[in-house]
Amino acid sequence: MPKVTFLGTASAVPDANHQNSHLIIEGGNRVVLVDCPGNPFVRLEQAKIDPLSITDLILTHFHPDHVTGLPLLLMDLWLMKREAPLMVYGLPSVLEKSKQMMALYDWEDWDDFYQVTFVECPNVEGSLLFETEEIKVWSSPAEHLIPSISIKASFAEGSICYSGDTAPSNAVLNLAKGCDILIHEATGDENGHSSPGEAGKIAQAAGVKRLFLIHYPFDSDPQILLQEAKANFSGDVVVTEDLMVVEL
Ligand SMILES: [Zn+2]
Repeated sequence: MPKVTFLGTASAVPDANHQNSHLIIEGGNRVVLVDCPGNPFVRLEQAKIDPLSITDLILTHFHPDHVTGLPLLLMDLWLMKREAPLMVYGLPSVLEKSKQMMALYDWEDWDDFYQVTFVECPNVEGSLLFETEEIKVWSSPAEHLIPSISIKASFAEGSICYSGDTAPSNAVLNLAKGCDILIHEATGDENGHSSPGEAGKIAQAAGVKRLFLIHYPFDSDPQILLQEAKANFSGDVVVTEDLMVVEL
């Protein structure tokens, strides 16, 4: 059964219980890591997910709370003798900066490095990132302070949309339409972000079944987040917590 594992749920400032937002979408023989803050190995171990099993990495945008773990992820997989190739997806500017970040560590000199293949996402609505018989993954532009994407993963069992960092966005709404699960950020009433109430409005307009709030300030009261989202959305609302697992 396809599932999502929330590795981190906080907005930019984490605490011991809330890492910066990143998650794993698993299904159809693919293990997709979405964003890479801190060192994802710690939460992966806690979630009992083998880091070597990751097949794909999607970077939604190049803010520190979403990408600073990339050098450690790539290095630690290398130290674990990874042989399988790793696909890395992102907007062209995000991939360019990611390569520059790795160049600071002279990664071209790391012997016997496994293959890392960078795949550019066009900044247009409904771009297909990859597909197999069991899974299809798309991206659409989000509305953040810098170029940022939202993503959707579809399986025979249903679809999951993740907003990434975004203000209320029609492109994200369109991507989420008909999905079973919408994972929407709920940073608050800030430029380039959404409040829980706004996330609820998007979920309602998209007609999703379940709304999962993520990327919220670690010291938020979950009951208040829930109430604000529920005021605008008639389906189920869940405030995500680190290491929560949700099946489609
Ligand atoms: Zn963020």
